[in-house]
Amino acid sequence: MDKALVILSGGQDSTTCLLMAINKFGNKNVYAMSFVYNNKYRRDIECAKQICKELNIKHEIYDIGVLQDIAKSNDFEGRNLILISLAAIYANTNGINNVICGLAGNSSHPDCTTEFFENLKNTIKIAIGNNINIEAPIIKLDKSEIWEIADKLGYLEFIEDKTFSCWNRQDKHCKECLSCKMRFEGLSKYLKFKKAGDKNNEQ
Ligand SMILES: [Zn+2]
Repeated sequence: MDKALVILSGGQDSTTCLLMAINKFGNKNVYAMSFVYNNKYRRDIECAKQICKELNIKHEIYDIGVLQDIAKSNDFEGRNLILISLAAIYANTNGINNVICGLAGNSSHPDCTTEFFENLKNTIKIAIGNNINIEAPIIKLDKSEIWEIADKLGYLEFIEDKTFSCWNRQDKHCKECLSCKMRFEGLSKYLKFKKAGDKNNEQ
């Protein structure tokens, strides 16, 4: 039986990946994993909890505060190297054959690129074995295309309401940080594109 583990931050990208996995594998075969640092409150993790509850997904949250202690910050390069490796180890020891991560390629981080991902995939095969398939289904998409996926799955409003992706604030989206800008510009680009498409279809 195919099962999938989704690394879920509670933001737009990983939640869209969760919806894609549910669509493909069925919610009984999908698991979510989130990470916190030294038990610190984060709005996106609260979102992840709520999302899994509503979608009836088994959700595990692990504290990886040691990484924050080592890097003296929770915003360090190479984070995805660790998170995806941890998820792959969890999947391998729990009989889950797919690991899905919401890497989005237009990020400025080197550990979000296709080059990083392809190399990590090979490394995990060498380190853990061939039975784990690692996927990054939205790595080549821009934000408007990620909104389009949510819409086509019938979850556009769900993503709008239930996910949180701000880097500056914990109470609401600041709409000024790069993460907010990409989220909201992507949404308005998609909605414009959709409206134009609807018009064309009417003619
Ligand atoms: Zn923001």
